[in-house]
Amino acid sequence: MDNLIGRHWHYLPAEEVIDLLDGNKDQGLDLFEVDHRREQFGYNVLTTKKGKGPLLRFLLQFHQPLVYILLAATVITLLLQEWVDAGVIFGVVLVNSIIGFLQESKAVKAMEALARTMVTEATVLRSGEKRRISSAEVAPGDIVLLQSGDKVPADMRLISVRDLHVDESALTGESVAVEKCDKILPHDTILADRRNMVYGSSLVTYGQAVGIVVAIGDATEVGRISELLATTEELETPLLRKIARFSKVLLYVILALAAVTFGVGVFRGQSALDMFMAAVALAVSAIPEGLPAAMTITLAIGVARMARKQAIIRKLPAVETLGSTTVICSDKTGTLTENQMTVQEIMAGSALFKVTGGGYEPAGKILTSAGEVPGDFPVALTECLRCGLLCNDSLVVEKEERWTVQGDPTEGALLAAAAKGGLSDREINEKWPRLDSIPFESEHQYMATLHAAPEGGHVVYAKGSVEAMLERCRRVLSSDGEPANLDTGAILDAVEAMAARGLRVLAFARMELPEEKQKIFHEDVAEGMIFLGLQGMIDPPRAEAVEAVRNCHSAGIRVKMITGDHALTASAIAGQIGLAHAEKVVTGRELADMSDTELLETVEDVSVYARVAPEQKLRLVEALQANGHIVAMTGDGVNDAPALKRADIGVAMGITGTDVAKEAADMVLTDDNFASIEAAVEEGRGTFDNLTKFIVWTLPTNIGEGLVILAAVFLGTLLPILAVQILWINMTTAVLLGLMLVFEPKEWDIMDRPPRLPAEPILTPMLIRRMLMVGGLMVLGAFGLFKWELASGAEITEARTVAVNLFVMVELFYLFNCRSLTKSVFKIGFFSNPWIFGGCAVMVVLQILFTYVPVMNTAFQSAPIGIGSWIRILAVSILVMLIVGVEKRYTNRN
Ligand code: ADP
Ligand code: MG
Repeated sequence: MDNLIGRHWHYLPAEEVIDLLDGNKDQGLDLFEVDHRREQFGYNVLTTKKGKGPLLRFLLQFHQPLVYILLAATVITLLLQEWVDAGVIFGVVLVNSIIGFLQESKAVKAMEALARTMVTEATVLRSGEKRRISSAEVAPGDIVLLQSGDKVPADMRLISVRDLHVDESALTGESVAVEKCDKILPHDTILADRRNMVYGSSLVTYGQAVGIVVAIGDATEVGRISELLATTEELETPLLRKIARFSKVLLYVILALAAVTFGVGVFRGQSALDMFMAAVALAVSAIPEGLPAAMTITLAIGVARMARKQAIIRKLPAVETLGSTTVICSDKTGTLTENQMTVQEIMAGSALFKVTGGGYEPAGKILTSAGEVPGDFPVALTECLRCGLLCNDSLVVEKEERWTVQGDPTEGALLAAAAKGGLSDREINEKWPRLDSIPFESEHQYMATLHAAPEGGHVVYAKGSVEAMLERCRRVLSSDGEPANLDTGAILDAVEAMAARGLRVLAFARMELPEEKQKIFHEDVAEGMIFLGLQGMIDPPRAEAVEAVRNCHSAGIRVKMITGDHALTASAIAGQIGLAHAEKVVTGRELADMSDTELLETVEDVSVYARVAPEQKLRLVEALQANGHIVAMTGDGVNDAPALKRADIGVAMGITGTDVAKEAADMVLTDDNFASIEAAVEEGRGTFDNLTKFIVWTLPTNIGEGLVILAAVFLGTLLPILAVQILWINMTTAVLLGLMLVFEPKEWDIMDRPPRLPAEPILTPMLIRRMLMVGGLMVLGAFGLFKWELASGAEITEARTVAVNLFVMVELFYLFNCRSLTKSVFKIGFFSNPWIFGGCAVMVVLQILFTYVPVMNTAFQSAPIGIGSWIRILAVSILVMLIVGVEKRYTNRN
């Protein structure tokens, strides 16, 4: 069959396709056959096309405006035959590019690794059994079952189709979903019109289908469109873009200043060569060489920390945006609650029953409301339980002495309840074979199945929300099994009582259909059903969610619950979790009736939204954004995708989420837990904090160095520091001191501050003032000590060495100030970041080498200095640290 791959399948009958591929429609492939085919065709993966090659990526490191200046400086110093200077300047460019390159490679690798952890799965038929497998294991000839929300694992010919709609935008760029069929198409049908085929990477937006795999991996259509594959995410974020823009402005400022320096100097009669070297010194001093590398490293560390907290970042900008989140809109079931459902109450035949036992274990009893074992089960009760069992796609299994659900926990609870009522899963399903089904979809709020009844005739069983079921029923099954008129009011009262206790209530109904009916559609069950009863189940709130919500509130972040569940159930759970104004609930219907202006007001203070259709989530996101909020929104279904895309942070569920939702999201929660969103926000704030700390630490040095050169030229004195010395300072301190700030742990009160406004500049006036102050102190200190040394008879090389050491030592002590932007270093824990001490120690050793080793003395024109000079240097540095400390305190108090 190997020569068949790549054939055109659309004009053959499905049976023939199955034959040609040695498949089996009912059994799927044999497990041995799968191994055999794997050897022949390999895994169903796309060979990732290389993005940019390493050499190109390395060369691109030079493609930065500020590096141009340094390169130009290298060339000109070469022409001037200043060999050492040229060597050092170029060395710095090289080291800078190597660091940048390594960092970028690491970041790219980290993102790729994260992408790999998100395997998509497929449902296949193998050896007669339905299995969930990783998409990579799909083989040609496999029978695959598709349903809404799935990502199509490979190219397939459809065998049977039920309302299948597929989004093929990954292939065609066309985002309107295409409806599929299982008919034979003419030979000359073009690819885009082959509606009996689906292609790998497309997304199922609606319906179900069964198909046979005809091509996998690189042989698929998407595998052939090579340019679509180099999908390594851009490593760009709003902040990095801002910094890039800042660099451009800086470039012009530097060029202008350098020109002025040169002009003024020459005008005052100094040699053009000296003035040119001064201009170069000015240029290199003003460039924050370490900044871009530090930014990428900080972001990469943020991503890694979030992954450890179960939040996988799919789009890098999310790391930053998370920190400024002001509203989190969360699902209820499974995110704020445990999704551990247990039926506790049943209402059938106008009598209420209690169910004992917890979890999914079939150990427990059904008792009357008086707490007695009923002699005979009323017919209505049995029917209600049977409906829950038959109209069900899940399984409850015992594994290692624990009972767990395979499928939907809501359905698992119904199976457990039926088992407690003595109904056996196997027996009932054999007696009532299923002929067809309408699967559960959030927007319809119900599910129905068609069965052949043992006594003849066909029966539909349906379950869903109370509203969805009541709509379809005029009659109710009474205790004795006879239909009676339905008293809707009485049912609603019972539902409200259950919901107010926090129970999730499902309603059940049945109807008979003639035997000709082999399939059912929404129209068939729109009316004429008989109401069977209610089952109410608990789903306890997650303990972590309660604390996470509290943290969010103290951090000025509002939490909103958006659920498809009943208003009262939602409100009761919201109360237990501690949401603000839990008693105020807005339903989907009320939302639909609201005008946009009313909505803007409502979204501000209502935190519980019930019976919301997924499409309405988009409107909520938009309203919140219109009010200026930064919105995180969770979702799992196909219809959640537009809201996830629109939200500032779209959050998809890793366990229960569909592939469609995950593709649309910025972040995926591996544990579906609300607390993980809160943790990610915390990490986001910490990451942004650390970025800011680095900037506040690094810029004063550039300001100080620049001012020293300018001042020297304008005063017509010798330069206190040379270009190569400036490069030495900038590079060594950035790597050994500044970079250590990246490892700062989060400050303990990080969730006690209000969210950062995204429009807010990184540098507040307070921080700018601090940077100018430190820069100014550096100038005074360096110039002062330089003059002092000269006045006391030191050589110019010695005086410069003192100036260089002063810059480094001020930076070293100032680093401790920068470990927190607002608090004293002793408050955040003096030893909480061991990296800082390691970096400082190495830095001190390097300065000793710089000062005392002859080779260094030649390369950097430094010279050994005496103990007295060191004492003065330390005195000034410590003084600067103390002044900043006092300033911080003073600013804090105001
Ligand atoms: P949520 O996940 O926010 O609780 P859903 O959209 O999943 O909301 O469910 C909405 C309503 O649909 C539920 O309150 C319940 O009445 C009903 N429902 C949920 N799951 C099922 C199911 N598997 N079968 C039938 N009805 C269901
Ligand atoms: Mg749900």
